[in-house]
Amino acid sequence: MSQYGLGMTLAAPRLLLSCVTAASLAAAVALPATAAGGGGGDGDRTGRAAAPGQAGRHPGGHGKDLPKVPVMRGSGGAVSSVDQQASQVGIDVLRAGGNAADAAVATAAALGAVEPYTSGIGGGGFFVHYDAKTGRVSTIDGRETAPKSFTDKAFLNPDGTPVNFDKAVNSGLSVGAPGTPATWAAAVDRFGTRRLGDLLKPAERLAREGIVVDQSFHDLTAENEKRFAMFPETARVFLRDGKAPAVGTRWNNPDIARAYREVRTHGIASLYGGKLGRAVVAEASDPHTAPGVEVPRGQLTLGDLRAYDVVHRKPTHTTYRGLDVYGMPVPSSGGIAVGEILNLLESYDRRTGTSLSEVSNAEYLHRFSEASATAFADRNRYVGDVSGVPTNELLSQGFANERSCLFDADKAQPRPIPFGQPDGDYSACGTAKKTTGLPNDGRSTTSLSVADRWGNVVAYTLTIEQYGGSGITVPGYGFLLNNELTDFNFAPVQPGVPDPNLPGPGKRPRSSMSPTIILEDGTPILSVGSPGGATIITTVAQVITEHLDRDLALVDAIAAPRLSSRNGTEDAEPALLGSADGSALKALGHQLRESAVIGNAAAIRINGRDDFEAAAETTRRSGGSAMVVHPAR
Ligand code: GLU
Repeated sequence: MSQYGLGMTLAAPRLLLSCVTAASLAAAVALPATAAGGGGGDGDRTGRAAAPGQAGRHPGGHGKDLPKVPVMRGSGGAVSSVDQQASQVGIDVLRAGGNAADAAVATAAALGAVEPYTSGIGGGGFFVHYDAKTGRVSTIDGRETAPKSFTDKAFLNPDGTPVNFDKAVNSGLSVGAPGTPATWAAAVDRFGTRRLGDLLKPAERLAREGIVVDQSFHDLTAENEKRFAMFPETARVFLRDGKAPAVGTRWNNPDIARAYREVRTHGIASLYGGKLGRAVVAEASDPHTAPGVEVPRGQLTLGDLRAYDVVHRKPTHTTYRGLDVYGMPVPSSGGIAVGEILNLLESYDRRTGTSLSEVSNAEYLHRFSEASATAFADRNRYVGDVSGVPTNELLSQGFANERSCLFDADKAQPRPIPFGQPDGDYSACGTAKKTTGLPNDGRSTTSLSVADRWGNVVAYTLTIEQYGGSGITVPGYGFLLNNELTDFNFAPVQPGVPDPNLPGPGKRPRSSMSPTIILEDGTPILSVGSPGGATIITTVAQVITEHLDRDLALVDAIAAPRLSSRNGTEDAEPALLGSADGSALKALGHQLRESAVIGNAAAIRINGRDDFEAAAETTRRSGGSAMVVHPAR
């Protein structure tokens, strides 16, 4: 049990209950503000220690800054993200009368300034939106896209073997046409009330003012020192004398402020065919490298940028415990896989007559692992940016019933679990035989949730793929280019089995990002998302089930030790591995592998009209930042 709440064991109607505990609220009030903006002059990259008292006021806002806490309840709207300054930017937009889409865009842009290794102008993402006026959930697919010249051989050496993965990561070849600025423009245009240029101003200011380097920023920079050193512009912007800036010093990035200013004043057209776009193409196609370093060149052209557009897609939908779960469709596998996991769990509940809320924690985790591994078997076989992905069948309860028939309370199924046949005929049990290999996966990205007082809700997950993306910084503009195209499988993961995630011209690599909005009787009750590569899927599904089925307060569901079972790899955080539950899972045959940190979730529980509970990480990655416009007293 985390320090932030007590497990809820309250009686039904569970879903309508307020889920914040007295302990959580006390924590919200007690924790001090840390590392907020303020101070720090333009153009300062000296690394001087931050002066005391710089934390606190965030210039340009509309009221007092809120503290950095992992849970906050109140009214007026809510923002949850991984960063205090970014959440504050979103709250300021809500305070000033902006809506959820406005605040989500401003928060995301701020993250690009203060969390430059996980997202930014050079990346892409998925925006899921609930519109209170229409009652509809819709999505914006702002995924990075392969150049027109990209073929299924793009990541093969001349002898037909796959290019070394690290070599592909640190290269122009992996850079897809960025979709993030187009997503912002589309979100504001479709759902917002503010001008995009105005929503970018706080990010520009934060980039100039900079941040006080915390442990997480330091560690991520230190992990990347070697590859950042391959690219002189990246070393100049992000390193000091070749090293990560020290914790407690100030780091700023006036170059990215210039990039925001360029988009603010010339619109996203500057990226999609103009000055910024030319700078991106020049760097991706022939990256500047340190003496003696050679990296593969990219194929991105100005034509690819001109041709880029977001896609407005129908969300995935499944029902779970009578709730409506909406997620991100192809090219993400997130909505399909999260939905299938939930369907499998519900199906197995029915088969056994015991629901997830009634079983021991070890049995819950066992069921969760079996469901996750099964969903990954199907995801790896069927999901990619190709036509004819059987989304409806993969999300049908019939398919889940057939697929859960081999779950055994006494033992884990051997991995890899074969993929199923989503063919509409679900009478078979145990006939699946074929498996696929394991695709590569990383652990980066960022996610945020916003809800406003009018009832609109956003779940938005965005990325530049790896921490630090391709490692290539656009000269003079201070942002990292994505390496999203490494999310393609370089070669078929299983010879003889069709692979929907091979590279292709204008194709979008399969993603695991899973921004999710859940409705009860047509009204949103939960918005959730997480970073973490393929573990995003299991993190989101685990938070949902820990909260809805296991009766944990949302912040405790986020803090709970994570298990990520992906059909061949089963990662567990140390707190789980070393626990009685970990031992019980091993005794059932689960081959657990220790993983220090899984995910970094941000979520909002909507308890009723204008009653929000924002929740974020308590300790992972230095903790997240949950805020509401008017905190409850
Ligand atoms: N590229 C990953 C995806 O779209 C996200 C990056 C990561 O979290 O590693 O699924």
